[in-house]
Amino acid sequence: MSVEPSIIVRASSWASLFDCAYKWSAIHIDGMRNVVGLRAALGTAIHAGTAVFDQGRLDVAGISADDAAGVFVDKLRDPENEFDPGRDDITMPDAERIGLSLLTKYCLEVSPNYNFVAVEMETKPLDIDCGGGVIVRLTGTMDRARIRKSSCGVGIADIKSGSAAVQKGVAVTKGHGPQIGTYELLYEHTTGEEITDIAEIIGLKTKGTSEIATATLANSKRVMIGTEDQPGLIEFAAEMFKSGRFYPNPKSLLCSEKYCPRFATCHFHD
Ligand code: SF4
Repeated sequence: MSVEPSIIVRASSWASLFDCAYKWSAIHIDGMRNVVGLRAALGTAIHAGTAVFDQGRLDVAGISADDAAGVFVDKLRDPENEFDPGRDDITMPDAERIGLSLLTKYCLEVSPNYNFVAVEMETKPLDIDCGGGVIVRLTGTMDRARIRKSSCGVGIADIKSGSAAVQKGVAVTKGHGPQIGTYELLYEHTTGEEITDIAEIIGLKTKGTSEIATATLANSKRVMIGTEDQPGLIEFAAEMFKSGRFYPNPKSLLCSEKYCPRFATCHFHD
C-alpha cells in the first residue's frame, strides 16, 4: 500500500529551501508566485535550445545549431513565456543577441565534448520517512541537467545560466550542492545504477561578455543524506516539515521584491 507523502519537494527547489525557508513555504506551500523578468525568460529559452540540441544528438536526429537557435527564439517570443519586460535591464533584441551567441557556442564548442546518455530525465519519486509520520517525497524532472558517461562511469552535468553563472573563468558551483545531490539520489533510485563520476556545472554567463565555463562539484549526495557523524540537509528539512516552522532569512541575496513573492507582507526584512 502506498503511503501519501506529507510534502512533495522538487529537486530544483532544495537550494531555495535553505536560502530562505519562509520564502520557500510562500511559493511551495502557500502557492504564491512572483512575476519574472526578461532575464529569467532568457534563461528558460536558452535551456530549451540546449535541450533540443542535446536530445537531438542522443537520438541522432540531425538537429543543428541553427535548429536549436530557432527553438530558442520561438521560446523567447512565446506569449506563454510570461514575464514583465520592465523588470530587467535588457531589451528583447539584447536578450536575442546574448542567447544566440551563448547557444551557438554551446552547440558547437561545448556539447560535443560530452557523451550524454540522458537529457532532463524524468525520475521516479523517492519517499523519505522522516519519522513522526512525516514522509518527504523527492520528485521532479532533472530540469536542465544531463547524465553524462565517461571512463569514470555516470555523473550529473547541470547547465546553469545567469548574470554571474561564470566568474573568473570558472562556473559558479556555490549553492548548487543540494539540487545536484537530489538529482544523484533520484538517478540512482530510478535506474538502480550508481553515480560514480563527479558532478559538473556548465555555466552560461548572460551578462557582459558571453562566456561558458565548467567546474566540478563533489560530495553533493552526502550533503543531502549526511554521514554517520553529521546530519544531511534532508534531516534538517524534515525538522522544518514536522514542525511547520519555516525560518526567514532577510540576509538572503534574493530577499527583494523582485525575487520574493512574500516580500510585501513579510516583516522580517528592512
Ligand atoms: S522577504 Fe526576505 S525574509 Fe521575508 S520571506 Fe522573502 S526572502 Fe525571506
